[in-house]
Amino acid sequence: MGLLDGKVAIVTGAARGIGRAIALKFAQEGADVAFTDLAIDDNAKATEAEINALGVKGKAYASNAADYADTERVVAQIMEDFGRIDVLVNNAGITRDGAIKRMTEQQWDMVINVNLKSAFNFIHAVQPIMFKQKNGSIINMSSVVGVSGNANQANYAASKAGLIGLAKSVAQELGPRNIRANAIAPGFILTEMTDVLPDNVKEGWYAQIPLRRGGTPEEVANVALFLASDLSSFVSGQVLQVCGAMNT
Ligand code: NAP
Repeated sequence: MGLLDGKVAIVTGAARGIGRAIALKFAQEGADVAFTDLAIDDNAKATEAEINALGVKGKAYASNAADYADTERVVAQIMEDFGRIDVLVNNAGITRDGAIKRMTEQQWDMVINVNLKSAFNFIHAVQPIMFKQKNGSIINMSSVVGVSGNANQANYAASKAGLIGLAKSVAQELGPRNIRANAIAPGFILTEMTDVLPDNVKEGWYAQIPLRRGGTPEEVANVALFLASDLSSFVSGQVLQVCGAMNT
């Protein structure tokens, strides 16, 4: 018996990192998992194979989450292949860091489109399906910097704050239809996104974290599992910070 038996989940940007950990955790708990990635590369194929090896259905879809029409297309395809959608995790995200005075319009637009508009695209596409089912859990992958802000990440922090406002609004709007929406705000998590940071920057983060370490993708996936499953059936419109007490 898994916590997500019989449910179908979509996870965006799940070929690697936190998204991959969530897709695998959901599959271990009995969910069929459709996930997206910009292109189906070796990472995506490996994640797809790992999901299927767990005895559930897993399928990778190439889609640009920032593209409205592409999202409509891929959600329709997932519906055709899987028949229902119970859980949506808006995980796809990028950084294009820089001081505000040097930030280009392109850096701003890319981050807002990939991190925030993508979540609107997917929520807009899945909501009529969840509405008919009278059931759904939507999870937006925010960040602690969406709560507290961060120097040199104005575009990223704004997109992550937007994901919180979006989750809270959708929770209020779709709650009467038994659709929940929450945000997860991870702190410093050890993935390829953070691996590129110089050692002194990483040490700086650890010094600010009372647990004195970075988190793992699995530790974020455990919280996503809670929010996706019926364990959290009365939890909606909330932000769960997964950050080793960095933000309190
Ligand atoms: P990651 O390792 O860089 O993985 C990001 C994934 O998103 C990749 O699979 C990537 O695909 C995909 N992606 C990027 N742009 C996309 C697009 N336009 N459409 C579809 N997929 C796209 O990142 P991560 O560290 O796992 O982060 C996952 C999420 O958690 C992000 O939203 C991030 O902002 C958030 N987060 C991370 C941390 C952290 O410390 N790592 C902390 C707080 C929040 P490709 O493989 O094709 O590039």
